[in-house]
Amino acid sequence: MRTCDKTDVALPLAPRNEEETTVLLQEALGMAATTGLLMRSAGGSRTDSAHVKPAFCHAPVCLLPNALPVQEYVKARRLATIWNLLVARIAHDGPWLLQTLASVLPHDEFTRRLVEIFQAINGAGRDVQKIQLGITRSDYMLHAGESGSGSPELKQVEINTIAASFGCLSTQVTRLHQYLVQKVLGHSRLSSKSFILPHNETMRGLAHGLAAAHKEYLRQESVMFKPSQPSRPGRRPCVLMLVQADERNINDQKLLEICLWEEFGVLLHRATLLEVARNAHLDLQRRQNLLLVSPLISDTGEEDVQEAEVEVTVAYFRAGYDPSDYSSEGEWKGRELIEMSAAIKCPSISHHLAGTKKVQEALCRPGVLERFLKDAEDVDAIRNCFVGLYGLDPECEGATAAVAAACNSPQHFVLKPQREGGGHNLYDQDLVEALSQMTAEERAAYILMEKIRPPPFEAFFLRDCSVLRGLAVLELGVYGVYLGDGEGKRVILNESVGHLLRTKLASSHEGGVAAGFAVLSSPLLVGGGEDSGILSKKYFSTSRDFTMSARVWRRQRFWKIGATGIAFWGVGLFLTYIAVSKRSGKLQ
Ligand code: ADP
Ligand code: MG
Repeated sequence: MRTCDKTDVALPLAPRNEEETTVLLQEALGMAATTGLLMRSAGGSRTDSAHVKPAFCHAPVCLLPNALPVQEYVKARRLATIWNLLVARIAHDGPWLLQTLASVLPHDEFTRRLVEIFQAINGAGRDVQKIQLGITRSDYMLHAGESGSGSPELKQVEINTIAASFGCLSTQVTRLHQYLVQKVLGHSRLSSKSFILPHNETMRGLAHGLAAAHKEYLRQESVMFKPSQPSRPGRRPCVLMLVQADERNINDQKLLEICLWEEFGVLLHRATLLEVARNAHLDLQRRQNLLLVSPLISDTGEEDVQEAEVEVTVAYFRAGYDPSDYSSEGEWKGRELIEMSAAIKCPSISHHLAGTKKVQEALCRPGVLERFLKDAEDVDAIRNCFVGLYGLDPECEGATAAVAAACNSPQHFVLKPQREGGGHNLYDQDLVEALSQMTAEERAAYILMEKIRPPPFEAFFLRDCSVLRGLAVLELGVYGVYLGDGEGKRVILNESVGHLLRTKLASSHEGGVAAGFAVLSSPLLVGGGEDSGILSKKYFSTSRDFTMSARVWRRQRFWKIGATGIAFWGVGLFLTYIAVSKRSGKLQ
């Protein structure tokens, strides 16, 4: 193993020979096992949330970090707070949301049921919780432009408003890469004039968001009920994570649970939607508080664990985004119960709908971003990351032309239904066949998206304990956390908390890690010329560097300059007062 103390790096980072590849592999496997960078192996089974048969393997990762232009990374991190606010405002604008989704509903039963719940809650005025927790992840790929010339820029693939996963594993991948780059490649520092391996505080950032929502719920309770109606003694407040029964990405969730407990003292309980339907009810004596019988959490403090009721402060969905999550009416009942409750939802049903592909397409239409964002700079920043998106309902301007263009040149387009979780999109000949077989009304349930063309590079994948080498492309995800009302009037938290880098073979269309298309990685920020200045700044040590939108940055600068001016003015006045007093003999 090489241990020379180097600060200058040959970029991109790669193992220098077979021997070094083997050392990296062994070290990576050890580190993955030690830090929980694991996934349940396919076929590793479980019967219910209480009985887990562990059968884990390392998460698929890149052996070393992949180069990404620093200015694009900074741009994407800063966009997160604008996205947070944008999504919250869309979710708050019920009439616009319903109108936008209307054409999708006749041929998309899943979205229709979500919309029906949304209408039932809002129409009946039963929305007893105004505060929403948004955990979003906006995904981007580098786009090389028409001729492939010019510097590639990040363009948005989609925004995830429900069950944005891999936040905790991405923190562990950054740790892994920091360790390998220093120990095996022998670089003494994680930054130099030519590169930086940025911190990734996603795990703590997500836990902080959940803890802040938990605290806000308890504050609301204490304001509404104190002291005449105390909560039943022993009913422990906790965050509820809604999970899939056969979840493979369980470590990502358990790491968050542990971080939430250790750093913020907040309990998290995992349950499926079916378990909620069976074991939960609303406390109608109070304000529809969600109470769940939990076999896992004791309220007695005694050694033998007894069944106890917990009060759900935050309902955090890591399931419920795919039709397969609702295999019976029971799951729908569980979802409805949660939506009707006083728990802070992450996301609420409106926040969930705000993340649909149809909404993404609608945002591209003229004037729509301006409806939700007041600041022209914010609008430009968001619009700049869009590629062409086309609605296919007959009323959509340009729908016919878009369908014709896609059928003629399918290699330039992706056809997307209103689905999440990977594996649903259509490409190439499948796209042509689907478009030609569908009626105009059926097409309305889909959107067409211009294909992003990321520049390929060579990467080293670690999968199933062996290393593969291949041409790859990147997808950067940036996590945002928003806690506040839908109008943006009461914002408790609006942060850009960290990143996820996924790397996939350039030949693969899809990008999901859980779905087996991509591996986890981390960005090695590079930049020359003008950008070397950014590299030398202390941008990357804390998430605070990215938590402000352009408007807030300007406002803060204005106040800083204002405060400095006032301070100088005050000191000047004081000195003048002393001088005048001395002269007039008041001061001896
Ligand atoms: P899902 O919600 O199912 O994850 P996405 O819109 O994120 O759907 O698409 C899945 C994957 O397909 C992405 O991770 C990306 O790798 C690829 N993809 C999606 N849209 C595009 C696009 N416009 N250009 C290139 N690749 C895309
Ligand atoms: Mg996606």
